[in-house]
Amino acid sequence: MAAPFGGRGALMINNLLKFLNSSPVNFLAVKTTAEILEKAGYTKFDATDKMPALKPGDKFYTTKNDSSIYAFEIGEQPLSEAGFHIICAHCDSPTFRIKPSAEILCEGGVVKLNTELYGGAIMSTWFDRPLSLAGRVIVKGEDALHPSTHLIHIKRPLLQIPNLAIHFNRQVNDGVALSKQKDMLPVIGIVNNMLEKENLLINIISEEIGVEKDAILDFDLYLYDTTPACTFGLHDEFISAGRLDDLSMVHAGLAALLMNNSESEMQNETVQKSNAKTTKVLAIFDNEETGSQTKQGAGSPFLANIIQRIVLAQGGSMDDYYRAVEKSFMVSADNAHAWHPNYSERYDPTNHPVMGGGPVIKFNASQKYASDAMSAAIFANICTEAGVPYQKFVNHSDCAGGSTLGNILASSLPLRGVDMGNPIWGMHSVRETGCILDHLYCIKAFAKFYEM
Ligand code: ZN
Repeated sequence: MAAPFGGRGALMINNLLKFLNSSPVNFLAVKTTAEILEKAGYTKFDATDKMPALKPGDKFYTTKNDSSIYAFEIGEQPLSEAGFHIICAHCDSPTFRIKPSAEILCEGGVVKLNTELYGGAIMSTWFDRPLSLAGRVIVKGEDALHPSTHLIHIKRPLLQIPNLAIHFNRQVNDGVALSKQKDMLPVIGIVNNMLEKENLLINIISEEIGVEKDAILDFDLYLYDTTPACTFGLHDEFISAGRLDDLSMVHAGLAALLMNNSESEMQNETVQKSNAKTTKVLAIFDNEETGSQTKQGAGSPFLANIIQRIVLAQGGSMDDYYRAVEKSFMVSADNAHAWHPNYSERYDPTNHPVMGGGPVIKFNASQKYASDAMSAAIFANICTEAGVPYQKFVNHSDCAGGSTLGNILASSLPLRGVDMGNPIWGMHSVRETGCILDHLYCIKAFAKFYEM
């Protein structure tokens, strides 16, 4: 099958790399997404405001906790007849959170930071690479109940987690058990006196965001790998980047949503501008890596509430809302495992998706995935209509495998839906490997779903 989008494909991949580099953590991924939506004519709706009357063609987005984001384009068809076309993904990835009072002074004035693991990282991949900090800082606001938020993205390399030399552990290549508390603490510098150590992080934050030290109340800061995303391979067919899981799916959803938008930098084809027939939703949740049960995760009723408000804001009733939910379809997009040439025995003998083979429909008999024969058939139809190949993934029966957000969302919003994602290698490594062709296929399939 020919590569989708012809010469524009390269621009779309460049756009993906840019998106990944400007989104080192959940908060920044939401900010980057919001900026792209605003350029494309989406306006911000604050969930504390009264929902205005809505008409076909209206486009808006809303956020929760600055770490999840939901975009909507109102279609022409009545919601009670056509439902919502929803694509979901998540913006969090495994990393390390900086603990409070993190500075630990060691021999020779060396300072390391106390951290806590977030999600299921392959910890060994975080050694010996330049890291930095990103997240949000809470500063004094108008009163005690309303502090304000500053996002922070320190771009210069600031930390590293040095390995222990092989000379101290000759068995290092036979496998090493790692302690989250002992082994994974990054080194940040050498200080000259205790005063410098006490205020080390606050000084850095204050300088970075341009706010007086006394005004800084607290922060959510995480480590990230400063090495930029890139492509590689004989034909430049692969993508090497942190957070492909799941920012590549966020990007694909965004590119599909804005496919017909002439204002958007993500516009990919010259298509006549028209209102969507159905109402499009892109929902990017936080906290998938820790189980989704937060106000900004897929376990929250937040999306259900907004969808209900959209139905009511168009003059619909609660019955119309329930009918809209029954008519809707959800694509839960989270990356899948590609067949790994070094570990073929770990894969299911008949269902092991390959790199470049197209989007993957994920099945699990215990229903860790939302897919069933009906929803899988619908997604397969979407791919076929888009001219895109698709593959199927099932775990090797002796492997526990993973889970994702499709079913968790379905518990608050009983949607028909499929769990799918693009095949990648090294999921939850600090740097994962994806395939360019699959990314373009995915955008094409998503765009088809939104225009149906
Ligand atoms: Zn994921």
